Amino acid sequence: MTVLSLERVCRDYRSGATTVRALDSLDLEVAAGELVAVMGPSGSGKSTLLALAGGLDTPTAGRVRVEGTALDGLGAAALARLRRDRIGYVFQDFNLVSGLTAAENVALPRELAGASARKARTEALAALDEVGLAPEADRFPDQLSGGQQQRVAVARALIGRRRLLLADEPTGALDSATGQAVLDLIRARVDRGAAGVLVTHEARFASWADRIVFLRDGRMVDSTGGRDRAEELLTS
Ligand code: ADP
Ligand code: MG
Repeated sequence: MTVLSLERVCRDYRSGATTVRALDSLDLEVAAGELVAVMGPSGSGKSTLLALAGGLDTPTAGRVRVEGTALDGLGAAALARLRRDRIGYVFQDFNLVSGLTAAENVALPRELAGASARKARTEALAALDEVGLAPEADRFPDQLSGGQQQRVAVARALIGRRRLLLADEPTGALDSATGQAVLDLIRARVDRGAAGVLVTHEARFASWADRIVFLRDGRMVDSTGGRDRAEELLTS
């Protein structure tokens, strides 16, 4: 089943007389159980692609669908709800709320979705346990290491029944062992039925994906299908 689809998506940024085409007529489909890695040089449109897929940004042309729902057909409230309930987003810089504990940060999307505080906490503790951080549940972000903060961010992205996981260089600020652990978690959730898109510049992480998409100047310049093929390409 297709969870994410981008159809001829363009994103132009205008500044004065010049226009930068950050994405140029991009087509992409990601199915449940599939992890797609997006690679490409700086400025090639990777973050733009992810922001459009997550409904954080709007295409200049083309259409984004999440589980069949066209995002351009939604009002602001419905879009916010869809993002909260169906999309888990991991940012490079964690984006945790500093005044909330780890458990409160993770519980936030569930509470916003109307779950009781008790139920949201139970789910948050389970998600923190999944990332090996149950003992740190009541600590604040500034009491956690960078790697622990990123694992909290991953737990927050994984909580609930989200079917689309989007991660923009989630291992960027992490040492390689912690980066590996974060990738393990994303891979495991995808193997249990989510669709994942992972922006990474590290070939060894991309080789975990089922497919690698290469961007240059907002266009897809190459794409590999299948994990074996990806490994072949990256090791040749
Ligand atoms: P990547 O994540 O691959 O480094 P981005 O998606 O961030 O690339 O950016 C793609 C292109 O769009 C770049 O040329 C960048 O300068 C431009 N761009 C991104 N965001 C903005 C913005 N808010 N305003 C103007 N230009 C932008
Ligand atoms: Mg980027």
